[in-house]
Amino acid sequence: MAAGTLFAQITHEAPSDSRSETALLPVCCMCGLLRDDTGPSLDDERWVTQRKYRKIHGANPTDCLLTHTYCPKCFTQVMERMRGSQAEA
Ligand SMILES: [Zn+2]
Repeated sequence: MAAGTLFAQITHEAPSDSRSETALLPVCCMCGLLRDDTGPSLDDERWVTQRKYRKIHGANPTDCLLTHTYCPKCFTQVMERMRGSQAEA
């Protein structure tokens, strides 16, 4: 049931209109790194600083629509913290 609910949420959030040009720029809400989808294929190398992003694309990342997420490093930290707090409880 839980997996079905999650799947329904994902499909619900998928873009269904023609505004696909408006790309969301994923930014880590913990360290502020941006995910550059045009970068290397290795996931942890795609995460760049805002300064580096500006250098690569010549565009200010704050002009883009930002979506908050976790970079792989912070995601691991959050998961470890969650696991730790569960163990304490
Ligand atoms: Zn991060």
